[in-house]
Amino acid sequence: MMHLCPDCQQPLELLMACGCRDYFCNQCQQLVSKGRVKRLASRPIDGQTPANQPSSSATGH
Ligand SMILES: [Zn+2]
Repeated sequence: MMHLCPDCQQPLELLMACGCRDYFCNQCQQLVSKGRVKRLASRPIDGQTPANQPSSSATGH
């Protein structure tokens, strides 16, 4: 999971203070509240199905 600045779309730096999580944008030089943070879910690439492997069923039997 990546967190991006809603203003400049840059990755945010996660700050942890007093058990609270804050996000800081180095580009904008400002804190971004959790509600405004743009979350970018890193999901697996679609359409990456394993190729049909020719099963070696022709093994000697
Ligand atoms: Zn920013």
